[in-house]
Amino acid sequence: MRLSQYFLPTLKENPAEAEIVSHRLMLRAGMIRQSSAGIYSWLPMGLRVLRNIEQIVREEQNAIGCQEILMPTIQPADLWRESGRYDDYGPEMLRIKDRHERDMLYGPTNEEQITEIFAASARSYRDLPKLMYHIQWKFRDEVRPRFGVMRGREFMMKDAYSFDLDAESARLSYNKMFVSYLRTYERMGLTAIPMAADTGPIGGDMSHEFLILADTGESEIACHKDFLDRNLSDTDIDFESDLQPIVDSYTSQYAATDEKREADVEAALGDDLVTARGIEVGHIFYFGTKYSKPLGARVTDADGQEVHVEMGSYGIGVSRLAGAIIEASHDDDGIIWPDNIAPFKAGLINLKTSDAACNAACDGAYNDLREKGEEILYDDREARTGAKFADMDLIGVPWQLIIGPRGLKSGVVEMKHRASGERQELSLESALTQILV
Ligand code: ATP
Ligand code: MG
Repeated sequence: MRLSQYFLPTLKENPAEAEIVSHRLMLRAGMIRQSSAGIYSWLPMGLRVLRNIEQIVREEQNAIGCQEILMPTIQPADLWRESGRYDDYGPEMLRIKDRHERDMLYGPTNEEQITEIFAASARSYRDLPKLMYHIQWKFRDEVRPRFGVMRGREFMMKDAYSFDLDAESARLSYNKMFVSYLRTYERMGLTAIPMAADTGPIGGDMSHEFLILADTGESEIACHKDFLDRNLSDTDIDFESDLQPIVDSYTSQYAATDEKREADVEAALGDDLVTARGIEVGHIFYFGTKYSKPLGARVTDADGQEVHVEMGSYGIGVSRLAGAIIEASHDDDGIIWPDNIAPFKAGLINLKTSDAACNAACDGAYNDLREKGEEILYDDREARTGAKFADMDLIGVPWQLIIGPRGLKSGVVEMKHRASGERQELSLESALTQILV
């Protein structure tokens, strides 16, 4: 992508309304634009990031046999009357009337909808288990939308739902999600800590929130310090095997959000205790027959008895993650994207657009990479070098390929690694090879 043609409305100054660094940087890097309180448009750069987050979530859901569907944003109120939540949900729900005066709503979540879909066709225990998800916009009329996309009113969520014959197999579905969540966040370069949590308005008796630590987080948390450098990357996971030992290895260690903290446990942990602030990036629940009963989601079991299916729901804050990742990875100059999330793997800075040889080398490198399937961000603008460097740092792509007439004369270009700040001089050919790895 040529920067001269790209729609990238970057800002030099910090926008006054942005209280936290991720919000400031998303606005300054031209990723989003506010439409009204808590509602944003995603501009080209922001959308690339959002799509990358979505894709990791999608791949990890698919990997555990969870099937993607797409449910509507607008739902009929009657469905929510059946579960009793139409009145319970409160002013966070956006209630709408259609032209026939029928009550509709903009979905804040989809338990009712998916249960209705499942109930319409499920007959027997042979139809179980089932895991389904979608990645869709939600609307919640939050009291205090703030922090940009972190607490929006319209936001994108991955919500998955599990259907099982009994509590024991529901536990297996829950465990699959639990472990898959750990993997999902790890792929985004995040350390997400599963914490025992209250079940909230959704109800149920088994629930974990996944939080990443950040000073700007809205929740106070406490956990064992071992969580800070735990990861699954060396563990070869077979999702059809018994995942209980992995889940236990996490849940047996102390980690709790505000409402679940235990003073005596914390005192006993002594120096092993970490207290911090956290951002909730996911939440998983097991809630049994809470929706299958009122909505009539039944199957016959192996003995021919009718039973209500056991369900769980599993959310990931996809749009919130864009902000959360920036909170976890930035410096004074701007964003530092983890490789898997970056809108572009590399940026190419043309140091002298008035120099024919320099242009030829830059255009050649750009075309070469494109032909090999790597879209990079090519700063071909006639602008000050300082401004180009500042913009590329702000945008935060992992690699910067810097080409200027002086280096070209001695056969070298410069590569800068955004995260470490390391610079190296090398031949253009080696630089291109490095970007293509
Ligand atoms: P919170 O406690 O932050 O209000 P919640 O418990 O209401 O979240 P869930 O219903 O569990 O949220 O939704 C699943 C995920 O969706 C959350 O873990 C969070 O990452 C994300 N999410 C929830 N509300 C918002 C919002 N207003 N803006 C952006 N993301 C959100
Ligand atoms: Mg929650």
